[in-house]
Amino acid sequence: MEIACLDLEGVLIPEIWIEFAQKTGIEALKATTRDIADYDELMTMRLNELDKHGLGINEIQEVIATLKPLDGAKEFVDWLRERFQVVILSDTFYQFADPLMKQLGYPTLLCHNLEMDDSGKIVNYHLRQANPKRQAICAFKSLYYRTIAAGDSYNDTTMLAEADAGILFHAPQNVIDEFPQFPAVHSYEDLKLEFLKASIEVEA
Ligand SMILES: [Mg+2]
Repeated sequence: MEIACLDLEGVLIPEIWIEFAQKTGIEALKATTRDIADYDELMTMRLNELDKHGLGINEIQEVIATLKPLDGAKEFVDWLRERFQVVILSDTFYQFADPLMKQLGYPTLLCHNLEMDDSGKIVNYHLRQANPKRQAICAFKSLYYRTIAAGDSYNDTTMLAEADAGILFHAPQNVIDEFPQFPAVHSYEDLKLEFLKASIEVEA
């Protein structure tokens, strides 16, 4: 049996924090791990900014609900689910992804969690585990599933390497250059072809 593992942001949906910063006009929320390398420092800043602007989980979900999956993403997920068991491995939070997952038909998602108080204010965040994408692949392998993974960025490369086959999708050129061992494609049609090539079970 084969499991298709997909990254979420940049592969099926836009980058949530960036889109959210644009929708709300909160400049500080445009920062990414490229600007603030320490993830805990970055998340603490983000939660402080949300609090400062009076944005709790309800207001945030209203904004995120106005975002759309990337063009063709829903059709691609439907195509993939007819041929593989599909699991999305993401570094986002369930509470942020939820409005977008609804639009994708709620495929299985493994990601992190936010902690809210009774008023809806986000008071903390909880990472699922260290190196979560690679660990998920290791777990599926321990269940004797063959894995094919696709992602767009550095945080996907350990997942792609651990999988039986890894594919770069929508990756920036520096990632493509640094990881020439993975095929790199930029459209869902080409991504479908790479999944078919990587599969030992699904006929083209
Ligand atoms: Mg991504």
